[in-house]
Amino acid sequence: MTYVITQPCVGVKDASCVDVCPVDCIHPAQGESDFESAELLYINPEECIDCGACEPACPVSAIFEESAVPAQWKEYIKINADYYAEK
Ligand code: SF4
Ligand code: SF4
Repeated sequence: MTYVITQPCVGVKDASCVDVCPVDCIHPAQGESDFESAELLYINPEECIDCGACEPACPVSAIFEESAVPAQWKEYIKINADYYAEK
């Protein structure tokens, strides 16, 4: 399982989640080359340890545990994973 970033992050990208993640698995972080162009931030499902720290840190409630992602945003499970698959 993993946590997933969904639609409310689009255009917000304040990176509060990046600051609290203990394993640095949320990208692109501020300062990384594709931060400005990224539509939202993404959680690496291979590295996330399911600690849950990022969920309450998000000001727009964009982060959900994978099984709790609302139906209309289920596509974001793949969108998060695909960001890392391209690397
Ligand atoms: S659940 Fe924990 S490890 Fe996973 S992205 Fe959030 S803060 Fe990072
Ligand atoms: S805290 Fe929420 S809005 Fe901010 S970058 Fe992370 S997921 Fe996006």
